[in-house]
Amino acid sequence: MHYSGLKVITEGLFGNKGWKPVWRNPAPKAQYDAVIIGGGGHGLSTAYYLARNHGLTNVAVLEKGYLGGGNVGRNTTIVRANYFLPGNQEFYSHSLKLWEGLEADLNYNVMHSQRGLINLFHSDAQRDAFARRGNAMISQGDDAELLDREGVRRYLPYLDFEQARFPIHGGLLHRRGGTARHDAVAWGYARAADRRGVDLIQNCEVTGIDIENGKVTGVQTTRGAIRAAKVGMIVAGRSGQVAAMAGMRLPVESHVLQAFVTEGLKPVIDHVVSFGMGHFYISQSDKGGLVFGGDLDFYASYAQRGNLPMVEHVMEAGMTLMPMIGKARVLRSWGGIMDMTPDGSPIIDRTHVEGLYLDCGWNYGGFKAVPASGWCMAHLMATDQSHDFARRFRLDRFATGDLLDEEGTGSQHNLH
Ligand SMILES: Cc1cc2nc3c(=O)[nH]c(=O)nc-3n(C[C@H](O)[C@H](O)[C@H](O)COP(=O)(O)OP(=O)(O)OC[C@H]3O[C@@H](n4cnc5c(N)ncnc54)[C@H](O)[C@@H]3O)c2cc1C
Repeated sequence: MHYSGLKVITEGLFGNKGWKPVWRNPAPKAQYDAVIIGGGGHGLSTAYYLARNHGLTNVAVLEKGYLGGGNVGRNTTIVRANYFLPGNQEFYSHSLKLWEGLEADLNYNVMHSQRGLINLFHSDAQRDAFARRGNAMISQGDDAELLDREGVRRYLPYLDFEQARFPIHGGLLHRRGGTARHDAVAWGYARAADRRGVDLIQNCEVTGIDIENGKVTGVQTTRGAIRAAKVGMIVAGRSGQVAAMAGMRLPVESHVLQAFVTEGLKPVIDHVVSFGMGHFYISQSDKGGLVFGGDLDFYASYAQRGNLPMVEHVMEAGMTLMPMIGKARVLRSWGGIMDMTPDGSPIIDRTHVEGLYLDCGWNYGGFKAVPASGWCMAHLMATDQSHDFARRFRLDRFATGDLLDEEGTGSQHNLH
């Protein structure tokens, strides 16, 4: 079904009875050209670009739960291209360009909203670091503006400018940054991949990876064996477990990250705002809820829910920065499992097994990467060559030392 304004009006007039399921619900076939393990944002976008860019449509996405039930539907929806290091810069820049054309490309409203992102700084040293980052963004062809304190006040008058402990010195404004509706991104890619012939198989957990003479031959699943000469492991927080099925031990730890949503309020926060002296970032959804988050829970876990100490920490950071939110009531919170690498950058690479590919290590920033990750992973799976934009995302960098340490915080998973 193709969506159009006319279709919406006609359906509205005739009782909305003509809508059809957005994707098929096929039974798994015995064999595919390529199989993707994981129906999150990255798995679905890979499937879509395999079909769209490379004409590979005999493809299945195998999802152990339901499409969009993982991190792709659990994040705080921030989309930006403000990375500093070559390797990350061009990748996220490409991703943002894909976001800008995504709704037209998928014929699906993912509610991409370029409302602007402001990263606050609170010291001279932090200002210098953000100035450098802004220059790097501009030289990459993206946008950045350094705001002084009064500049920030013009955009965000509700912040606490008087508090002495973390004085606001200014901010880096990235106008093309913003948000998107997370579930819609999963649904949009799923629908678009399905329309090109990709089979989306839900409730199908991969339990084993078949390898013969160093080559992948297929997977074992809870719905039977499926043969395929190419298999992509794209399972975010479960990457360590799935890669272990192929005898691999990944440099990835799984940690919980929580998100919070308040009751719906009238429009009050127009931008995405991030605090520079603690991990706190916030935006307001189109329904009016304040959507915010903070740091990891600081211990490795596969539980998709968090704990109270981090709830308290995040609320404290919010109150420090914008005391007005103290009156809002938090309605919901949840957790997602983050695939943390030691240098905070992802992996899109081949493995030691022929035909077996890996896309993981998205840390807590993989939502904005969904388009470019799918683009580059599809290129890798179709051609066996790394895409230029993902050439630094090598698995062996943790052995060679050629790290991509964006945060400059060293090899501690919990700091990325
Ligand atoms: C609270 C929170 C806030 C975040 N905020 C942001 C943000 O603001 N901006 C941003 O850019 N990023 C953010 N992220 C990070 C981002 O959501 C993730 O990096 C990204 O979604 C991970 O990729 P994915 O969508 O493919 O993962 P997922 O949606 O988790 O997909 C992986 C899928 O693999 C499936 N799977 C696992 N094992 C198997 C198996 N054996 N067989 C079959 N299927 C399997 C899982 O069920 C899951 O559906 C946030 C994450 C969280 C949790």
